[in-house]
Amino acid sequence: MIEINYKNLDLEIYWEEVKKETFQKPKSDSTNTTLKDYQDKLFIDKKLSVSLEELYRFLQEKNDVFKTIFSDIELKTLILLHVDELNHKVRKIEEKINLLDEDKQKQLKIILKDVFQYSKFQAKVLAPYFEKYLNPRTCYYCNIDFINRYGEEEVEKNGKKEIEFKNKFTLDHFIDKGRYSYLALSLFNLIPCCFICNSKKIKGSIEFYGNEKLQNTNPYLRSFDFDEKVKFKLFLTDSCEDLDIKSKDNIDIRLKENYSNKYDCKDGYIEKFQLDKRYQAHKDIVFEMLENAKLYSDSRLKELQELTGIPYQEIKKDIFNLIEDDADLSKEPFSKLRKDMADELGIERVRLK
Ligand SMILES: [Zn+2]
Repeated sequence: MIEINYKNLDLEIYWEEVKKETFQKPKSDSTNTTLKDYQDKLFIDKKLSVSLEELYRFLQEKNDVFKTIFSDIELKTLILLHVDELNHKVRKIEEKINLLDEDKQKQLKIILKDVFQYSKFQAKVLAPYFEKYLNPRTCYYCNIDFINRYGEEEVEKNGKKEIEFKNKFTLDHFIDKGRYSYLALSLFNLIPCCFICNSKKIKGSIEFYGNEKLQNTNPYLRSFDFDEKVKFKLFLTDSCEDLDIKSKDNIDIRLKENYSNKYDCKDGYIEKFQLDKRYQAHKDIVFEMLENAKLYSDSRLKELQELTGIPYQEIKKDIFNLIEDDADLSKEPFSKLRKDMADELGIERVRLK
């Protein structure tokens, strides 16, 4: 729903952080069969760990199946694969994988899961990176929930004291990491979102890659134009008599797309994220705006300006909780709803000075 503005994401730092994350020498109960198979060659000279970059290079040279697919793809290319190239690259890689026989495909699947271990990187590398450089505040998919950082605690790691942040976000893999494991750590495949959007019931059950209606809805894409194309619209329900809105039950809010059906179509973005259904629980926000519009006409607001000395626009902004014209919609929940409803109700939005 909200485009991710990634201008503050430092790609080089992301790459540095990811490539140096290490894999420990496997213990006997380790489930990492790739490390176990190669431990004598990987952990020579009493080495206790190898970095992701070392492991990847090693497999490029020594593992025949891995080599067939990834010999000409640098790890850095995969990790920093730009959002515009994701679909194309996956297609190319999958074409090569499909040429392998079934046994080799199985082997490769295991190796990729062993190497691109999302769970290993998530708390240590990925979440802190996103907190620092993107500082996500609300879910990019739904704009309903806060996903901000809410605290920190001191933890001991390898004998050193470190600050660990607690946050409310989860990272969704826009292209499924189960099936396309080699994209599990790719920056532009990671979407900070709320737990509901990332749950099995919503995004978890849908294949986005290769799905014509969904594959171009990655919020990092410059062409992601949901906010321009789709607007919240206000409708009156049958329970509303004489156009007199008395309660939130008298109104209905729905997302409607103008002049195209990129997001608003059967099995499309709005339907898959169940946005219309989920926003029904928040009709009170719109009802309050309607009530305020009745109470605070322009002449009333001007009276308040005279009385308080506070500029008219500021009073209006506070009463209607208006969103500034250039505001980053990801910073507050329901900001898109408020912005669209202000337009719908003819409440002039506040312009930045
Ligand atoms: Zn969400």
